[in-house]
Amino acid sequence: MPMNCLQPKPGRPTKKRRKDKGEQPVGSSTKMKRKYNLIRCMFCGEVGYNKRSCAKKKKEDAEEQARQMQL
Ligand SMILES: [Zn+2]
Repeated sequence: MPMNCLQPKPGRPTKKRRKDKGEQPVGSSTKMKRKYNLIRCMFCGEVGYNKRSCAKKKKEDAEEQARQMQL
């Protein structure tokens, strides 16, 4: 089959992607710093833990759940 190589391939033509010299891998220069040191509980306002790990909220949630069960 002689004409086979001249037929265009289906789909987008694959272009060779040239990397620029200034292109750097993502995440090297702009590192996201996670702030773990200053969490505040949005429930009671205590610093050092968040609402999910708040003992007061858990207690109130348990009481609320018990109240809901009684109804
Ligand atoms: Zn709390």
